[in-house]
Amino acid sequence: MNTKDYIALEEQYGAHNYHPLDVVIDRAEGVYMWDVDGKKYLDCLAAYSAVNQGHCHPRIIGALKEQASKVTLTSRAFRNDQLPLLAKELCEMTGYAMMLPMNSGAEAVETALKAARKWGHKVKGISEDKGTILTCTNNFSGRTISIVSFSTEEQYKDGFGPFTPGFQNVEYGDIESLKAAINEDTIAFLIEPIQGEAGIIIPPDGYLKEAFELCKKHNVLFIADEIQSGLGRSGKLFAFEYDNIRPDVVIIGKALSGGCYPVSAVLSDREVLGVFNPGDHGSTFGGNPLGAAVARESLKVLVEEKLIENSFELGNYFRAQLNEIPSKHVKLIRGKGLFIGVELHEEAGGARRFCEALAERGILCKETHTHVIRFAPPLVIKKEQIDEALVKIKEVLLMP
Ligand SMILES: *Cc1c(COP(=O)(O)O)cnc(C)c1O
Repeated sequence: MNTKDYIALEEQYGAHNYHPLDVVIDRAEGVYMWDVDGKKYLDCLAAYSAVNQGHCHPRIIGALKEQASKVTLTSRAFRNDQLPLLAKELCEMTGYAMMLPMNSGAEAVETALKAARKWGHKVKGISEDKGTILTCTNNFSGRTISIVSFSTEEQYKDGFGPFTPGFQNVEYGDIESLKAAINEDTIAFLIEPIQGEAGIIIPPDGYLKEAFELCKKHNVLFIADEIQSGLGRSGKLFAFEYDNIRPDVVIIGKALSGGCYPVSAVLSDREVLGVFNPGDHGSTFGGNPLGAAVARESLKVLVEEKLIENSFELGNYFRAQLNEIPSKHVKLIRGKGLFIGVELHEEAGGARRFCEALAERGILCKETHTHVIRFAPPLVIKKEQIDEALVKIKEVLLMP
């Protein structure tokens, strides 16, 4: 079978809810991937930041294999010997008192929303028929019905109603908009400290701190969705660290398992996560020993291999070099760490043709929001590999 055969099968038997680049990968290691024809690519997407530790990291695969041969799933009806250690290590690393494990990012977001609502009703004292969670324009927090209920992306909602009430959008990055919306019935404010899917959007300096303080003043929970921006992607463990704040709730996923296995979690303190009683919420696979063992090793790799520092330093280098390319197509380059968006002018005709030209040259990345090319390679990338990518990126950005 070749590339065309695989694509034909997927198109025939798989639902068409994605529009992938036409490369069929069958092997990957570190920052590189190979397609079924043996062509080598440098991965500049890192599975939307799920493989921050690099593809098939030997330590993480080792932990996966070892745990897989012992016990994989107990369900939470019984306890296992990996979840307690993951919980302790994650809380010690992040400075939160408790964690709640789930699988996908969307499930962790749902969990945070449920925790916040329960806190709003049981602790803050908002009556059950009231209570609003404020969210941001151009948010992306997953694809469940409740989460798309607060999306501002028409396509994410089209045909999926009726929607979950209790959410209200404020303008991302605009403190006045948040001020105008916040009142005694506000339970929480959910925000991505850097909006990934919206095109690597960074709010104005000082905004997150002001928003956080406003929430504190009104006894509103500040919830940071760090599923994509977190765990080193932005050059810090969490992107909110740039603003010296400590959110009440932090949601993580993606790189929590080094891309090996779906593991997500909600981090918070006792006042919030303590609202859950046995039977209130759960997941068959959440907190399973295989996922927990993989997550423990993924976190150790992140710290011991200094991937967060590497992201910070090489992110600065990568952006500086991109800024040197005299391309008429580039409107703006932005990012923190190795979380980089290259926004193109409308006249460039969309980012996809640039991504396709890059793929031909062995660099894999994906357009986001039509006009932005996202560069977010695995954080194990080396300077020489960035230089190798830059040669190709330059060629492509200088196309007519
Ligand atoms: C990817 C992502 C999610 C959803 O995670 P899934 O694992 O795809 O459900 C939520 N929030 C942000 C910021 C994300 O980037």
